[in-house]
Amino acid sequence: MCLYFKIHRGTKEIGGSCVEVWTESTRILIDFGMPLVKKDGTVFDFGKYKALNACELIKQGILPDIEGLYNDTGHLIDGVIISHSHQDHYGLSNFINKNVKHYLGKAAHKIIEISNLFMPQKVNIINATYFEKEKAFQVGNISITPYWADHSAFDSYSFLVEANGKSIFYSGDFRNHGRKANAFKWFTHNAPQNVDYLLLEGTTIGRETKPFKTETEIENELTEIFKQQGKINLIYTSGQNIDRIVSIYRACKKTDKFLVVDVYVATILKELSKFAKIPFPSKDFVSLKVMFPYLTSRGLKNKGYEKILYQFKNHKITKEEISNLAYKIAMIVRPSMQKDLEKINEIDGGNLIYSMWEGYLLKSDTKKFINYLTNRKFTIYKIHTSGHADTETLKQMVETIKPKHIVPIHTFSVSEYQKIFSLPIVEMNDRETRQI
Ligand SMILES: [Zn+2]
Repeated sequence: MCLYFKIHRGTKEIGGSCVEVWTESTRILIDFGMPLVKKDGTVFDFGKYKALNACELIKQGILPDIEGLYNDTGHLIDGVIISHSHQDHYGLSNFINKNVKHYLGKAAHKIIEISNLFMPQKVNIINATYFEKEKAFQVGNISITPYWADHSAFDSYSFLVEANGKSIFYSGDFRNHGRKANAFKWFTHNAPQNVDYLLLEGTTIGRETKPFKTETEIENELTEIFKQQGKINLIYTSGQNIDRIVSIYRACKKTDKFLVVDVYVATILKELSKFAKIPFPSKDFVSLKVMFPYLTSRGLKNKGYEKILYQFKNHKITKEEISNLAYKIAMIVRPSMQKDLEKINEIDGGNLIYSMWEGYLLKSDTKKFINYLTNRKFTIYKIHTSGHADTETLKQMVETIKPKHIVPIHTFSVSEYQKIFSLPIVEMNDRETRQI
């Protein structure tokens, strides 16, 4: 009796992760992500393929060709396990047959549902079962144990997959310098040992060798900038990067500033406050205010979701108030809020803190947004730390698990693995089957 696996996508690229694992009687998928790059390495834009059905998307190589995943014909796949709520790990799930069960974290599912309300791309996961950290569950004769991971997505996991006495560890996306660094520390004392194959993410391999800044260091850098007198601070960051939002909130507390978030970020914070102690619009966090961007509010009204807007009415801050209190405000922004910023006077000469991966600076809407603020005499700062492990942390995971083999995944630098790790590296190709 064996255990088999196949990486459908991800052996030589970051994004679009999808791994199939099977035994003689059970088949599961781990992650079903949207690609981030095309075959030629340029940015992947799903908008261009929107009109295509599953069959055509398989022909184009966008959807992996997997039996029993899309149609009712044949034996349906037994389960799809999602590691976290980043698009490159779940973004194609909408094409999966609705009778196929998804297994994911409850908070991760909540984030996906909120994204469906606010973003153009929808991924409806209806048939969902929630797992919990460290609690093994069975799909057929395959056992899966989720391990809580420190990552820039809230509610992220690595997985131990076992069957027939064989084992695979899927690292997922992880790090050791975020606000859940303790999760990694715990892992180094409780990790499974001697697994047959470690599928190890290598997002940062080949990019950076020195240790990454911690979220606490980010918080301190933000605090120094917020101390400048008489300026508004706009922060362009992901509304789903809760670790970063907590850093911003804490820097605000230290410098006596209001943190202004828009209705999208407010919704995320409110819903996730049911899972963790984080600031959210309420009487307990009076320095947290909510603004209602024109485009987002109109979008929600058009879809009949006014209720989402009303829930924050007691915490509302108007554009006029932002204008008057500019020197006391740090506000989380994104390019679609330019229309609103145009209506806010008295903020020229403020600070814009760019707090995301630098690669996104190449996107046309980001460029336009930064140009707009540069014209308003904003000073631009880049303050960020990666959502992914640095080399030292990757080595620590390997030393902890002591796998028999390491398989590079979620990386553009496969050849570098040999130089970093002393254990056997198995370089695989997409769609290649491995038997354990
Ligand atoms: Zn991720």
